[in-house]
Amino acid sequence: MSRRLSLTLDGRNIAVHLHAGDLPADVRFSGAIAVDSETLGLSLIRDRLCLVQMSDGGGDIHLVQLDRRTYDAPNLKAVLGDGGTQKIFHFGRFDLAVLMRDLGIVCAPVFCTKIASKLVRTYTDRHGLKDVVKELLGKDLSKEQQSSDWGAAHLSDAQLVYAASDVLHLHAVRDRLSEMLAREGRTGLAEACFAFLPTRAALDLQGWEAVDIFAHA
Ligand code: MN
Repeated sequence: MSRRLSLTLDGRNIAVHLHAGDLPADVRFSGAIAVDSETLGLSLIRDRLCLVQMSDGGGDIHLVQLDRRTYDAPNLKAVLGDGGTQKIFHFGRFDLAVLMRDLGIVCAPVFCTKIASKLVRTYTDRHGLKDVVKELLGKDLSKEQQSSDWGAAHLSDAQLVYAASDVLHLHAVRDRLSEMLAREGRTGLAEACFAFLPTRAALDLQGWEAVDIFAHA
């Protein structure tokens, strides 16, 4: 069962596809996939995964609304767990932990635009997606539906547009940040951080969420 919404976002014609339970088997992505997820809240103990959003930078954005009783989504798991395809996240640490916990998959390789931003935009402490998109792309991202009920059986059009817009700019942001990382000689450092991200997520899930295991004390 799928629902389709056609709209113009930032002057681009976008088709948002909402799928119930799993990604249809015939959906194909070309190249790196921008990924985001929505949960009921921000606790890794309490809050379940509700929605996964995906875009390959083209005109189609796919949203998968998950069934919390089964999380039976083999097609989605195959795409996210495909080691040959880069997944672009903003603060992938949380998404990776939730995907690991509820879907039982390790999502890699990853590019995290928040880590990249922190490694090169050292002139600011504003690393939220809205701030990064505004500065690097000159575009305004609405965060209006951020704290809505993602567990609802029926997601509103406004929620779908919000969810889709969170993956809309990640390819462009990645490209800009990659240039900045190269400029500052920090590409290798960023890549090492991205490669560590699944381990960071596993530590979060196993009780070290608030602990810096590298710290002396
Ligand atoms: Mn989001």
